[in-house]
Amino acid sequence: MQEKKQIAILGSTGSIGTQALDVIQQHADLYEVYCLTANNRVELLAEQARRFHPAAVVIANEAHYEMLKDMLRDEPVKVYAGSDALCQIVQAGPVDMVLTAMVGFAGLPPTISAIQAGKKICLANKETLVVAGELICHLAKEYHCPILPVDSEHSAIFQSLVGEDDNEIEKILLTASGGPFRLKSEEEMQTVTKTDALRHPTWDMGAKITIDSATMMNKGFEVIEAKWLFGVSAEQIEVLVHPQSIVHSAVQFRDGSVKAQLGVPDMRMPIQYAFSFPNRLHLNSQRLDLFTKPLEFFKPDMNRFRCLALAFEALKQGGNMSCVMNAANEVVNRAFLDDRITFPQIATVIEQTMQRATFDAAPDYDVYLASDAEARRIAEELIIKNR
Ligand code: NDP
Ligand code: MG
Repeated sequence: MQEKKQIAILGSTGSIGTQALDVIQQHADLYEVYCLTANNRVELLAEQARRFHPAAVVIANEAHYEMLKDMLRDEPVKVYAGSDALCQIVQAGPVDMVLTAMVGFAGLPPTISAIQAGKKICLANKETLVVAGELICHLAKEYHCPILPVDSEHSAIFQSLVGEDDNEIEKILLTASGGPFRLKSEEEMQTVTKTDALRHPTWDMGAKITIDSATMMNKGFEVIEAKWLFGVSAEQIEVLVHPQSIVHSAVQFRDGSVKAQLGVPDMRMPIQYAFSFPNRLHLNSQRLDLFTKPLEFFKPDMNRFRCLALAFEALKQGGNMSCVMNAANEVVNRAFLDDRITFPQIATVIEQTMQRATFDAAPDYDVYLASDAEARRIAEELIIKNR
């Protein structure tokens, strides 16, 4: 009998993490959890550990260590705390795959660590590629480490490329739901609240990415993610607003042929495909019914959704610019969720941070760390000044 694949989940208590556990539960004959990690949600992490019996758990926020240890005192599981522990646990010998389902820049160090240990990466944490796409691709090549996309659009592109081997991509058609403010006027967008922004029309996701979807920064990130994953230029990526979120993305080839992947919006599908590639496994989920609604496609409005334009600009400038943009975005995203800024201020602060931060055309890992810190500081100052 084939041995079960051992999976380390970075961010098991989040939206992607919990859906990944559902996939693993549906295929307990193939997959086993080696390690679960969280930042603050100690109780959920302990409950997951009791259910999935991992070899280890890590709580990134060290303040929760004693509590977690106490909650799991009767379980045969190793308990660790701190960001460094995340980097160490992904390198453990038995780990076959690492699902990077943490949110933000914090996902970068453990992803690098997992690549350096030659683990298969199932990449949900798109910020890793936004911040340091060039470095990640370089390391993945050096350590012969496969990176399987979990983001639904990139999984769709990846699936469309199966069997195409040497056939070059002419263009990527990257679909976007358009988020909750797709039909709002610029004036109406001045007064939208976080409650409005958190009401995503088609996907149920964590708070950070839901806000990023409302601003369309998420799509900007995905453009950058696509560039690094599939080796295309910004000019080869076209964003299409597709409110039904059924066509998850498509690839156009040089004979004009377009291959797309379709399905109901359910993240368990791309998560499972990243685990099982090249095989497809049964998934207990809703099936697509193409008779229910028409499929529509529109051009995105880069004036109302300036974050999308900023991402293309960051890509054009290259170097550390998308790292700067990501850091500013993390700060304003949090500030909007904390009611410290308005919705239109999100793009303004990001743009001003990009103008003020130190540009570096050829960043290394230390430059990314420094750029991230500097951009956070600038964005925070701008927020305080604008109040
Ligand atoms: P959630 O906010 O739902 O979950 C984030 C997870 O990461 C939680 O387990 C959280 O722990 C943990 N975490 C957060 N901050 C840190 C930190 N500083 N150190 C260690 N762990 C941390 O996010 P999502 O699941 O929605 O998204 C995860 C990633 O996947 C993001 O990069 C997102 O862009 C990407 N993605 C998500 C999609 C989705 O449908 N949700 C779709 C495509 C991509 P705790 O619970 O304790 O706070
Ligand atoms: Mg996506």
